[in-house]
Amino acid sequence: MNDVIVIGGGPSGLHTAGLLADSGLDVKLFEKKNRIGEDILCTGIIGKEAFERFGLKEDSILSELAYMNMVSPSGTSLRYDHGKVFACVVDRKKFDLNLAHKALSCGAQIFTGTRVENIRNAGDYIEVSSFSKKRGETRHRAKIAVLATGIEYCLHKKIGLGYPKNYINGAQVELDVINGEGPLIMVGSKVAPGAFAWNIPVRKNRTRLGLITEKDAAFYLKKLVSSLYPEKVTALESEQFLSKIIAQGPVSKTYSHRVIAVGEAAAQVKTTTGGGIYYGLLCSKIAAETILRKFPTDSFELSDLSEYERSWKKAIKRELLVGYFARRTCGRLGDKEVEKLFQLAKTNGVFPLIRERGKFDWQVDLILELAKKASIPSLKTLIKI
Ligand SMILES: Cc1cc2nc3c(=O)[nH]c(=O)nc-3n(C[C@H](O)[C@H](O)[C@H](O)COP(=O)(O)OP(=O)(O)OC[C@H]3O[C@@H](n4cnc5c(N)ncnc54)[C@H](O)[C@@H]3O)c2cc1C
Repeated sequence: MNDVIVIGGGPSGLHTAGLLADSGLDVKLFEKKNRIGEDILCTGIIGKEAFERFGLKEDSILSELAYMNMVSPSGTSLRYDHGKVFACVVDRKKFDLNLAHKALSCGAQIFTGTRVENIRNAGDYIEVSSFSKKRGETRHRAKIAVLATGIEYCLHKKIGLGYPKNYINGAQVELDVINGEGPLIMVGSKVAPGAFAWNIPVRKNRTRLGLITEKDAAFYLKKLVSSLYPEKVTALESEQFLSKIIAQGPVSKTYSHRVIAVGEAAAQVKTTTGGGIYYGLLCSKIAAETILRKFPTDSFELSDLSEYERSWKKAIKRELLVGYFARRTCGRLGDKEVEKLFQLAKTNGVFPLIRERGKFDWQVDLILELAKKASIPSLKTLIKI
């Protein structure tokens, strides 16, 4: 019998495992991929604040963002200068490996190449069946399980947990080209319908080009690569234009008897951008604190674990709701209306407001202030939220 089983070795699972092991619990983590940090589709942008808040090592940082260029549907360019670094771009493999090393050094055991296939609540404990090529099928027991499976929800269904009803599509490629323009955001119905695209330099001669859209992200990404770097399209195999769904929350029932879900497995992902690392780490901390409080008395009934959902919703539910509505509202604006917003940004004191109120991972206050300034009726409805 283990104290805790964590399923999934992304940032959320690894951070939860590390925090629990550091407090003396006996933690096993199962990851289906053969290596931590393997095959990840992510741009790796994280608010600067995260490093101090979560005690993260900074050696995974590839570049820092202190300004952003923005291009409107008609090609109007705007530069926003924040005056100081607001976010960092990380090497996700190194980032995840750092979290894994920390968890291991605190005493957690990590089993890679091990897929959890079933989970069963047996009353006094939780039972998990896993399969790996090395060990075949094995069963494990623990007092509580943490589901940190990212966008995979098969286990949720077996144990009665909630899962998201809404998703967006994300796609990205990393190209060996010199991005002389610096970090760039692009919008417009022909570029990324429903959301936006980005081109972020990560090293001297590499750039991450990606986008989120309501649908067909890989199609729009290929189109974007052909327009910005036509010489790269034929060189890239079509399978390199990978896309992935991204959860849009909030969801309810992120806990059940002896089970808690964290990170993207609980749709704890920014609804404006699809970024999930920061909220995943934040909610992992809330999950670990709840488990540590309940562990001495083995109080893992529904009524005991409900405080986990109350706490994480208190922290980020409003961000998720307002962000979702703002992204959808902006995503439905026509290109002409988007052009108007670009004009507004040039003239109406928008940038000073962003400098003053903008926080990379906490956006509600700024969104509501901007909605007040916008002369577009559909945006004004945001203020009522
Ligand atoms: C194109 C794109 C760009 C993105 N860019 C950013 C960005 O710049 N910044 C940002 O913050 N976020 C970004 N994201 C989102 C970010 O990648 C995720 O939100 C983040 O990885 C979620 O972390 P997690 O630990 O919750 O889940 P994951 O990182 O998905 O980890 C879940 C892990 O669980 C494992 N797993 C699943 N099922 C099982 C099972 N049954 N048994 C064992 N293991 C299992 C998976 O293999 C996986 O390793 C981006 C996403 C996309 C698609």
